[in-house]
Amino acid sequence: MGDIPTEMDLVYRVLDEQLVDVDGRRLLDAYNNVPVVGHSHPRVTEAVVRQTRTLNTHARYVYEPLVELAERLLASMPPEAGLDSVMLVNSGSEANDIAWRIAAGVTGRDGAIVTPFAYHGVTAAIADLSPEEWPEGFEVSRVERIPVDAGEEAVAAAAAGLAEAGHDLAATFIDAGLTSDGVYPLTRERLAGIVQATHDAGGLFVADEVQVGYGRSGEHLWTFAHLGATPDFVTLGKPMGNGYPVAAVLTRREIVEDFPFAGSVFSTFGGNPVAAQAGLAVLDVIRDERLIPHVKCVGERLLRRIGELQTRHPEIVTVRGLGLLIGVQLDDSARAKKVVDAMRDRGVLIGRTGPGNDVLKIRPPLVFDEEHADVLVEALEASLISD
Ligand code: PMP
Repeated sequence: MGDIPTEMDLVYRVLDEQLVDVDGRRLLDAYNNVPVVGHSHPRVTEAVVRQTRTLNTHARYVYEPLVELAERLLASMPPEAGLDSVMLVNSGSEANDIAWRIAAGVTGRDGAIVTPFAYHGVTAAIADLSPEEWPEGFEVSRVERIPVDAGEEAVAAAAAGLAEAGHDLAATFIDAGLTSDGVYPLTRERLAGIVQATHDAGGLFVADEVQVGYGRSGEHLWTFAHLGATPDFVTLGKPMGNGYPVAAVLTRREIVEDFPFAGSVFSTFGGNPVAAQAGLAVLDVIRDERLIPHVKCVGERLLRRIGELQTRHPEIVTVRGLGLLIGVQLDDSARAKKVVDAMRDRGVLIGRTGPGNDVLKIRPPLVFDEEHADVLVEALEASLISD
């Protein structure tokens, strides 16, 4: 999926919650969003160990931590969305696959709308909704793509195109940071328009928070909530267990009750007690370490300082950001590759994204602080100069 650059072929491990390479060199991780509260955070690690020693079954035997996690997730959602049902699963792909299956099942339709270079997962159904992975020339007639600056009109036009082709809209899937498209964070107005046009066309709206959830925006735990949207489904994954595999689909009971397979969807490891404890510990740490205001502060500094670099380096075309998700559009993908490699050689890990692979993707664990931001900016400037 182009998420892990092939140039990063070193072996890493974690020492005292810091990433080190095979030679013991400390690395500044500005790439990995899964360890959202920091690598091997002791509260998450201990929660996992404690629960592993106590009991690990599955969601057929309802056990307190998984009920508590479901309740805490629901309580964190904006009340106006009316989300009241949760299913815990193992990966973002599985969460999106279930959201898609329910949306297609209750609407009786098979059309989907996504952004041009979206990534939503690896299952057969969701690979069709993930143009980032499509081989050259591959098209799916039941999937329409809207441009990165799309709003209500573009979605209405895409839905009309689907209907014309005999594939009425079942669901629109949106990652509000448009991360794999090259980081184009949505505005409140555009997201509202996308949701509205989806509903007007009779479709359901899926807020894919696998990348942008868990405080990455620095505004709210959930980016769609910060943007004031009211989705029909929210899907969570990646950072949810800080590395322990756990993911979730949230929706409304009335939608689930209309789903022909309601009650028969079960995933063995989904919502096992250990996964649930990891999920609870992550929520605790984000709250207790006040990570969301921290992200806002550090993200703004990083964006401002990279913006300053842009005035001295014309090879930086634009800088786009949402909290601690920053995309630095360079003028050329070969240059972007060299910069990622040069940064790694200086001990700072970042990635690349976008259809042209020419956007530097900066997406660190949320404990990244101001000092780290300054180290990153210095390494970036040095890497641009040495290019
Ligand atoms: N949605 C988005 C926005 C993602 O970025 C990803 C993974 N990169 C997924 C879904 C799929 O998650 P997973 O790899 O856990 O299946």
